[in-house]
Amino acid sequence: MFENLSERLGGVFDRLTKQGALSAEDVKTALREVRVALLEADVSLAVARDFVKAVEAKATGQAVTKSVTPGQQVVKIVHDALVDVLRGAEDPGTLKIDNPPAPILMVGLQGGGKTTTTAKIAKRLKEREKKRVLMASLDTNRPAAMEQLAILGAQVGVDTLPIVKGESAVQIAKRAKQQATLGGYDVYMLDTAGRLHIDEVLMNEVQAVRDVATPRETLLVVDGLTGQVAVEVAEEFDAKVGITGVVLTRMDGDGRGGAALSMRAVTGKPIRFVGVGEKMDALETFEAERIAGRILGMGDIVALVEKAQETLEAEQAERMMKRFQKGLFNMNDLKGQLEQMLKMGGMQGLMGMMPGMGKLSKQIDEAGFDDSVLRRQIALINSMTKKERANPALLQASRKKRIAAGSGLEVSDLNQLIKMHRQMADMMKKMGKMGKGGALKQAMK
Ligand code: GDP
Repeated sequence: MFENLSERLGGVFDRLTKQGALSAEDVKTALREVRVALLEADVSLAVARDFVKAVEAKATGQAVTKSVTPGQQVVKIVHDALVDVLRGAEDPGTLKIDNPPAPILMVGLQGGGKTTTTAKIAKRLKEREKKRVLMASLDTNRPAAMEQLAILGAQVGVDTLPIVKGESAVQIAKRAKQQATLGGYDVYMLDTAGRLHIDEVLMNEVQAVRDVATPRETLLVVDGLTGQVAVEVAEEFDAKVGITGVVLTRMDGDGRGGAALSMRAVTGKPIRFVGVGEKMDALETFEAERIAGRILGMGDIVALVEKAQETLEAEQAERMMKRFQKGLFNMNDLKGQLEQMLKMGGMQGLMGMMPGMGKLSKQIDEAGFDDSVLRRQIALINSMTKKERANPALLQASRKKRIAAGSGLEVSDLNQLIKMHRQMADMMKKMGKMGKGGALKQAMK
């Protein structure tokens, strides 16, 4: 899976991480190569472009972390961007199969691996979720396909609906539903007829089957080796029958992998599973983290940078604590706190953790604060000059007007912020006077 892309990216980042210092030019060159590698892997142009843009934006805004090289940091950013573009379903391997018997509709082009995948998923549901599954082939044009499903069913120990000659796809679907209900099955899977290409007649048939079965999941099975074509097929099927997810097959081959990277971004539909071989257990859930790791193959570096970032945050927190202990608390400190709050899920989260903030926390709650308030407050501080931030006493009428205008807000918003700052600064001072460390520790108890 992803060998070529992986190799290409590996080359780019090996060079990058060996350099001690990186110039903006180095990063640009590397990203140009990343873009080419993505396009060669048959990732769609728009997705490749957005990907590189996202990485560039993050790389420029990033705080420099001690103990890792800039190159290593870029690797981590690329890794995160890969996870982002690959991420689809919250829990890709969990199919909606409550309310038995739950119908699952399997659709796709002929030869894409639909029948094989149907049996693989049935096996998985049986073994991992202890579900009773019934499979039915609706491929009335190809008796061999019906038999193939029966053979696979016997192989994995999953029942198949007996074949009755002369029935239409809709009739088979109805019979499957009936049999599943009477037989007490948890799930029934409908393996629809394949087609060589998108074909109006067969599409209508799938729609008719969908309408009688009202499936909980409609999974499109496509050949991952076909790259962007797989993505186009997914768009078509989604438009015509509506799909809830995609299974990419033949990901065991040395495919270029582009379909995996473009699918969610282009179609909005998540990849749920990947087929990685002909055997019945060659099916994996599509976990973004794991796949990104496989593509980049630089897990060590990613872990290293994560660790370093944690250390950096801990250092920043400690530095801030030292300032508080000295009773120092200017607008920069307040900004740091506000940003921290945003990260930790809002105002309440942090206030609850800060000593003596219980009362303020209640006021904030009553005033109906939310994250947009935090963002506005940060914008106000950003509009202040360095001197003003360091010494908020400078904030008099004319400066206030300028700051409010600079952030597109009102002077009254700024006054509120100043009041909040003053309350917090007063408290810091009191705690500072109570003695180093001890007071804070006491207050935290
Ligand atoms: P259908 O026409 O869409 O039902 O396709 P089939 O299920 O009959 O599969 C066509 C061929 O592809 C069969 O020989 C399968 O064994 C093979 N196949 C299906 N999935 C995979 C996969 O993930 N990897 C590999 N290597 N072969 C697969």
